[in-house]
Amino acid sequence: AHLDRIAAVDGAIHAFLATDSEASLAAARAVDERRAAGEELGELAGVPLAIKDVLVTTDMPSTSGSKILEGYRSPFDATVVAKARAAGLINIGKTNMDEFAMGSATENSAYGPTFNPWALDRVPGGSGGGSAAAVSAFEAPLALGSDTGGSIRQPAALTGTVGAKPTYGGVSRYGAIALASSLDQVGPCARTVLDTALLHDVVVGHDRHDSTSLNHAWPSMAAAARDGVDPASLKGLRVGVVKQLALPGMQAGVKARFDETVALLTAQGAEVVEIDAPHFEYAVAAYYLILPSEASSNLAKYDSVRFGLRVEPEGGGTIEGVMSATRGAGFGPEVKRRIILGTYALSAGYYDAYYGSAQKVRTLIQRDFAAAFDKVDVIASPTAPTTAWNIGHVNEDPMQDYLNDATTIPANLAGIPGLSLPIGTASEDGLPVGLQLMAPAFADARLYRAASAIE
Ligand code: GLN
Repeated sequence: AHLDRIAAVDGAIHAFLATDSEASLAAARAVDERRAAGEELGELAGVPLAIKDVLVTTDMPSTSGSKILEGYRSPFDATVVAKARAAGLINIGKTNMDEFAMGSATENSAYGPTFNPWALDRVPGGSGGGSAAAVSAFEAPLALGSDTGGSIRQPAALTGTVGAKPTYGGVSRYGAIALASSLDQVGPCARTVLDTALLHDVVVGHDRHDSTSLNHAWPSMAAAARDGVDPASLKGLRVGVVKQLALPGMQAGVKARFDETVALLTAQGAEVVEIDAPHFEYAVAAYYLILPSEASSNLAKYDSVRFGLRVEPEGGGTIEGVMSATRGAGFGPEVKRRIILGTYALSAGYYDAYYGSAQKVRTLIQRDFAAAFDKVDVIASPTAPTTAWNIGHVNEDPMQDYLNDATTIPANLAGIPGLSLPIGTASEDGLPVGLQLMAPAFADARLYRAASAIE
């Protein structure tokens, strides 16, 4: 049924970069056989899963939205993909994304944009717009994404779906094509909080292939979601609202939905507390130094030799000539911009001034969160300052686009978990609005409990 749905609507939505109905059906039959043989499979066995193209898979190509990896086939599955297969989930296709996960609209994909199922002239958010759109358009019930600065939560908000960024290190990054290793986190998305929690439970856990993977006994997120269903579970929950996240450019309809949700929380007996986080103001600036720095280093491996594309300059050339011709042709403009910013920020004379300062700001933001979580259990904010914007809206000033990430970036800088869930639509355009919840590191289950009550 999902393959039929993809065939019917994906021409208009373009959520998928690759599907292989033969491979998906064969995987489904194999799960049936495992079940027939008496294997104990979990609740998600046989359920189709869309996989962001940043995650490598053996059965379909993995491009990370870039021409430089066109047609690339990984010899191994990302750990999260292997775990999903072991639980009996079926890979139904690889989803579109901004090139190397750099962007907020999925318009930086080298393979063309994804369109928002709510309004085809709008973006689905990014960088994981393909996964969010696939789930929103009922092309897949579940999807995996990656969140470095909001790429699971923001597309969830813009497409009326649920998306979670786990605690940093909670879910393995092995086989997730790296963007910025100290910020990257793989996570689940779905149409309901419980479905998201069920997928979270499948992929969470220690992985010796990822040196930052946490060895922690995680409670069941699904149990927390089921436990939270009764809105009475909100009684006594202390909810922080950060002064600095009431962004000046916030759309009126987004603010209205958020305020209404806060009022509902109070009505259910939650205690709403205003939080001052003075360093959040510098989060975007710090992020856009740390991310390009780490990205410039991670992307150095696309050297025309080891992976994907190789372009020979006319009349042959030196090794350096081949590399620069390949990288010149294979990377899109946003990727080039960030490589240049990153190598500049890391260069000998500037390292302390830029990268070093950004790391200090990061610590101050972590302290703001620590002080806040002394007073509250969760922090709530709108996930994004606006609803989905028009496809093809070109912002001459990339800074303006970067500033839209101000609500989601702090959680990545601090390594804490965040979740976005739909809270209705904005009155001016009828498009979905998302609520973001954040909790201290390791308290992912708290998010599912609260989100499930709010849902
Ligand atoms: N919009 C952010 C960026 O462009 C988020 C990226 C991400 O989470 N992968 O960097």
